Amino acid sequence: MSLTVLPVRDELRVRPGRLYIAGEWTDAASGQALPHVHPATGECTVTVARGDAADIDRAVRAARAAFDDGPWPDMHAQDRRRLLLRIAALIDAHAEELNRLQTLDNGLPITFSSMPQVSAAFLVDSFEYYAGWVDKIGGRTIPVYPDRAFDFTLREPVGVVGAIIPWNAPLVLLALKLAPALAMGNTVVLKPSELASLCALRFAELLEAVELPPGVFNVVTGTGIEAGASLVSHPGVDKVTFTGGTETGRAVMRACADGLRRVSLELGGKSATLVFADAPDLEMAALHGVGAVAMGLSGQGCACVTRTLVEESIYDAFIEQMRGVLTLVNPGDPFDPATTSGALISPRHLERVLGYVDTGRAEGARLVCGGERLGGALSTGNFVAPAIFADVCNDMRIAQEEIFGPIQSVMPFRDLDEAVQIANASRYGLAGQVWTADIGKAITVARRVRTGTMGINGYSVVPTAPFGGYRHSGFGREGGVESLDLFTEVKNVFVNLT
Ligand code: NAD
Repeated sequence: MSLTVLPVRDELRVRPGRLYIAGEWTDAASGQALPHVHPATGECTVTVARGDAADIDRAVRAARAAFDDGPWPDMHAQDRRRLLLRIAALIDAHAEELNRLQTLDNGLPITFSSMPQVSAAFLVDSFEYYAGWVDKIGGRTIPVYPDRAFDFTLREPVGVVGAIIPWNAPLVLLALKLAPALAMGNTVVLKPSELASLCALRFAELLEAVELPPGVFNVVTGTGIEAGASLVSHPGVDKVTFTGGTETGRAVMRACADGLRRVSLELGGKSATLVFADAPDLEMAALHGVGAVAMGLSGQGCACVTRTLVEESIYDAFIEQMRGVLTLVNPGDPFDPATTSGALISPRHLERVLGYVDTGRAEGARLVCGGERLGGALSTGNFVAPAIFADVCNDMRIAQEEIFGPIQSVMPFRDLDEAVQIANASRYGLAGQVWTADIGKAITVARRVRTGTMGINGYSVVPTAPFGGYRHSGFGREGGVESLDLFTEVKNVFVNLT
């Protein structure tokens, strides 16, 4: 690991953020603002408006009016499709800028922020993909009896969508929520994370050029307790799509239950990777496992595999292979293309992650390496050396709780049945991987592990495939054709022919 000095860059001087409501930029009703703090340096880069209940009310009213009285839900399919394609082209033209803004927003190293799986390219692909659905989604005709009748269904937009996203992958999350919601004719109020709102605000600025009808898309920045809670309990909202932590998801669901509001939840994870002795590429398996928590956003990803289950016969050798991956870890200035590892999002989160290192030790797991805060030139940021814990028991807290940091828990297994049993002994069920050259074994594991996604010899989130969780990882699938169900209502029409 090498340490780089963190310079102040031009990206750290962006304009203060305001709210985007009914096609206009406005300050928060309270006049208050929140600082954006860059995780790699601890510097306040800019302020964003601190929206609260009053601003959410204005935004929801604007979205309501755009849905109830505006042209958007009934716009001809080809017109809406063309608008979505123009949005995709605009994002594409500003892709590099958006990728850098994401790095400023949350500290994701620029090399990772530019990768198709997390960059503006994902946003472009999503808008193009859902633009393609605008003129293809339809209903069906249904045989009916005993009356002589004709019966058919219509797919209609749900209405006003309240979208709430976390800070860790703003471009992907904008894509997963906004592209399908807008394509299906809904209007949207977006509440980005108070820790990383800059991509969402820039996205709204870019959208001005396509001249969406006012109120179709609105952004209210602010805290979860003020703006977020007001959005999910606002009676003018028809559907909430939420991505964030499991505890917050519970509160969001409670608020939606009170208003009998549709809700889908993308929550936390504690996913397992199952590495068999016959894996075709153990180096890649190690890179996907420990690399996911050591590099990029340092384990601050919902789909990161944070439990590594290794077949007994290769257990010790594989741990050495994982340790070898750590030589590729280069924390530092996230705008430097040589940097491979980012900081934790906040000092509070840093303390929480360091607390889990102590917990792992106290529980009796063997700390192979890492787990200390990085100092020197990196001491103003929230950097932690990636930790590998071996000989972890699956009932330890470090194996059961979502840490959201660079900590990997490794445990051995005897056979397929035991591996699947350990993988499933978790309250979460978001992602997972299996590494083996035996395709029969791979598919058996993929079918038996109870998670929303499974990767065989690798995994990547793609805009055309569904993503979501089982159990405490939430419900509803975003991405692919499945999103169309989340953002449409089905209406049945019965035509009496007698
Ligand atoms: P968080 O739950 O603290 O916040 C997420 C969002 O919810 C933020 O915008 C926040 O302001 C808002 N919020 C907070 N309290 C709220 C309330 N009472 N009502 C309404 N909104 C509220 O999560 P975070 O720390 O920003 O993100 C990390 C979490 O997100 C992790 O648990 C991670 O696994 C999860 N995540 C899940 C996915 C997925 O697709 N399943 C993707 C990314 C992140």
